[in-house]
Amino acid sequence: MHELSIATSILKTSENEVRKINGLQVAEIYLEIGKISGIEIASLEFVWDQCMKDTVLENARRHIQETGGLAKCAECGMQFPIEKIFDPCPGCGSPFKEILKGKEMKIKKLLITT
Ligand SMILES: [Zn+2]
Repeated sequence: MHELSIATSILKTSENEVRKINGLQVAEIYLEIGKISGIEIASLEFVWDQCMKDTVLENARRHIQETGGLAKCAECGMQFPIEKIFDPCPGCGSPFKEILKGKEMKIKKLLITT
């Protein structure tokens, strides 16, 4: 499952950060997930507990922020917010665009107990 590999990579990054400062556990984790990243937050939450058991993230409180998508039309140059990857340009109806924002998934902040 896609979300499982996302969770695993979140875990790896977190473990590295904890090790870097000789920490014990992650108390809180702040994630930013783009609306058109293809990651389903519900699915991620579904695999989370199982994936994070006995790890530095086991008791971490998660804060997930969904960030909106932004695209730039390849035909008329208009910038517009998008909800789905196939949304056409509202200005000219073109399906061709460049995605400026919304595809990313990042760990914004980790609060680590030492
Ligand atoms: Zn357009």
